[in-house]
Amino acid sequence: MKSNKILKKQKRRLLVYNLIAFFIIFIVLGLVAVISIEGYFYNDADRELNFSRDQLTAQLANPYISSGIIPYPEYRKNPRMNYILYDEDKNIIPNLSSIPNLDSVSLPVPGPYDQIYNIKLDGYNFRVLEFSLSNNDTVFFAQLLINIDGEIALRNNIISIYFICLSAIIVLTVAVSYLMSALTMQPIKKSMDEQTRFVSDASHELRTPLTVLHGRLEQLLNYPDEKIIDKSDIISDSLSEVIRLTKLSGDLLTLAKSDSDKFVPDKSEFDIFELAKITAMPYIDMAACDYKEFVVCGESVTVTADYNKIRQVLIALFDNALKYTAGGDKITVDLYRQKNKCEITVSDTGIGISEKGLSRIFDRFYRDDTSRNVTEGSGLGLSIVKQIVEEHKGSITVANNTPKGAKFIVLLPLS
Ligand code: ADP
Repeated sequence: MKSNKILKKQKRRLLVYNLIAFFIIFIVLGLVAVISIEGYFYNDADRELNFSRDQLTAQLANPYISSGIIPYPEYRKNPRMNYILYDEDKNIIPNLSSIPNLDSVSLPVPGPYDQIYNIKLDGYNFRVLEFSLSNNDTVFFAQLLINIDGEIALRNNIISIYFICLSAIIVLTVAVSYLMSALTMQPIKKSMDEQTRFVSDASHELRTPLTVLHGRLEQLLNYPDEKIIDKSDIISDSLSEVIRLTKLSGDLLTLAKSDSDKFVPDKSEFDIFELAKITAMPYIDMAACDYKEFVVCGESVTVTADYNKIRQVLIALFDNALKYTAGGDKITVDLYRQKNKCEITVSDTGIGISEKGLSRIFDRFYRDDTSRNVTEGSGLGLSIVKQIVEEHKGSITVANNTPKGAKFIVLLPLS
């Protein structure tokens, strides 16, 4: 319940962080776009203004102009441009000017010079360039006005499209952020659920031997005058529960260490076939006592791995093979080199594993229904085996043996 609250809080926090990050990105991008558009929009108009200024300056250098003899004014070729020329006293020279759009408008007095700026006249937007020029010692002033209504309309359109998009993006961002935070939280939730299940399974497993121990010790207390020899069955039961508890706590510690990434394989080079043969020795004897057959076949394969951990893997697999077989069954260990891997197969003709069990057998605390009545166990052995094998970059698979029993195949890299 508490972890659910933490998860929800974390999810909300993540949502807010995502939203803030998205907004900052979009607003910064938008501002950059608007600022660059602003500069870029007047580029053409400014280029035309400067070009017209050069044309005008060149043509007004013609000595005939001051005497009023002027052919068709070449500089008036740009239909967007308004050319207004003033004499020394700043009166408009009508025959040298073209002000089709501005008849009813009072123009600004020329100046400041050589600067380009925007003005609005009679509802129209213009970009203006003003400068002075001379002809035969006569000074003129010129105003060039280029209509920029098109540019302004386009800029306004782009800005409104940007704001429309921004609103759509805000809605989208909320949805995407929500989805992203849910996706991000999923593995965390899964891992927290697994952790909770692990802790509750572990306490459940610990409780059983502790309850048995508690009961047995209470039983002993009821007979304080009895001799130990008379109560040896109770003591032996308690001892097996203590052994079970010790193994369980060891297994839990191994898993906890692996989970916290504290385990680093202590690698060395050794012949794994030799190790398998040595490890199998007591099992061969135990099998013989129960009228079972335990054989180890294969070839010498040198691997670089953690000797003790690989021994732990073999012990767990041999243990299970003995546990889940009966008199007359056979356990076979095959160990061969397969390309750059070592393949270890432990197969038996025992009770086998159910279909459901085959997919869950490596889960922590999982015990197959087929085995529950056969023997006690914690269901941790195979998950530890899998972890060790994977820590060595290997793999382990399980299948049912034919005609009966189980078969575990471990693939270990040679180094
Ligand atoms: P434990 O044997 O202590 O229960 P393991 O993790 O070693 O725990 O095994 C998990 C389960 O896998 C066992 O409970 C049993 O159901 C099944 N299992 C493992 N090895 C064999 C096997 N050789 N034959 C049949 N079932 C097996």
